[in-house]
Amino acid sequence: MSFNMVSVTSLADVGLVYGDVYLNYNFGRGHPLNPYRYKLFFDLVKSYGLLDKVRHVEPRMAGVEELKLIHEDSYIERVKKLSERGYGMLDFGDTPAFKGMYEASCFIVGGTLNAVDMVMRGECTHAFNPGGGHHHAARDRGAGFCVFNDVAIAVKYLLEKWGVKRVMVVDIDVHHGDGTQWSLYSEPRALKVDFHESGMYLYPGTGFMDEMGEGEGYGFMVNIPLPPRTHNEAYLYAFKEIVPPLAEAFKPDVIVQQSGVDTHFEDPLAHLALTTQAYSEIADVMHEVAHKYAGGKYVMVGGGGYNVETVARGWTIMLSRLLGVELPDELPSSWIEEFKQVMGYEPPKTLHDEAKPFISEGTWRSVMADVEQLVKQVKKRLSQFFKVE
Ligand SMILES: [Zn+2]
Ligand SMILES: [Zn+2]
Repeated sequence: MSFNMVSVTSLADVGLVYGDVYLNYNFGRGHPLNPYRYKLFFDLVKSYGLLDKVRHVEPRMAGVEELKLIHEDSYIERVKKLSERGYGMLDFGDTPAFKGMYEASCFIVGGTLNAVDMVMRGECTHAFNPGGGHHHAARDRGAGFCVFNDVAIAVKYLLEKWGVKRVMVVDIDVHHGDGTQWSLYSEPRALKVDFHESGMYLYPGTGFMDEMGEGEGYGFMVNIPLPPRTHNEAYLYAFKEIVPPLAEAFKPDVIVQQSGVDTHFEDPLAHLALTTQAYSEIADVMHEVAHKYAGGKYVMVGGGGYNVETVARGWTIMLSRLLGVELPDELPSSWIEEFKQVMGYEPPKTLHDEAKPFISEGTWRSVMADVEQLVKQVKKRLSQFFKVE
């Protein structure tokens, strides 16, 4: 692909949605989703001096009408009730209710809609809401730490409020975005592409290749179930083989990306083996794809990642790639201090990983061979619908 980074960076105008209100999205002590992940990411951006380079806005609260773009009334009412009560479960154990859960979740969704609005109004070319990415929430239930599905709501909002014709959703979280899939399963105006660790090994146990959409939406759900230990080379091979040709064929008006970083080799909840270098390259591919095929319109939301230091560093790397800024690898000392105080342990000293995953030569090769085979099969299925060669 011929692409001039200089012309891109001169256009780069990135919105960032963040408010300390995200700290209220808190399932309590000991829950794997620590809300400080949002603040420590934002403070790292700030410590690196990037706030001058982005358009920062506070998240707004989404209204009920917006939640209803995806969710059923009865479910919204249930969340409100549990939120007032402050205890109980939204699913079978992962997603406990807490006081103020309804409001906290509305800020998450509103933040994603802010990002959409900023891009659609032309206030910036790309925008990122780290609070978003709640891809397990379904029409009628919460799941997997997700209350309302801001990703699916953003898609409907783009189609219905902004009148766009086609939205491409790229989900890179290590878990399959089942809530996004099922709530947009018959929607041909949204092409959903989901890279994740195979449901054979990981929650939520879905996202197989033959889940391709239904009715008019058949062919518009693309699942890439990766084997455990998938490493940078295999992952990026699959990503580059599948995403750019699909974008070229589908011609999205906007791209929405769920940006979970639980694909990282140190993530405690999953088994892929990516390093921060992969996030840098994924961001570059997506950035180029957005400019080439979607007029630059690119909305990023957050997602999983259960090592707070990986979340803060991974998202900062992605943001810096969109801004075209080369950051010093040494993390700012003020941020390291803050991290220690908040988390109670030492973060790494560098933005990029110094440690590497241990992958034996044999495993490396067998993963590569499996992923090559997988890409072949995915492309064969896709060729019925799109020109992806
Ligand atoms: Zn750009
Ligand atoms: Zn995840």
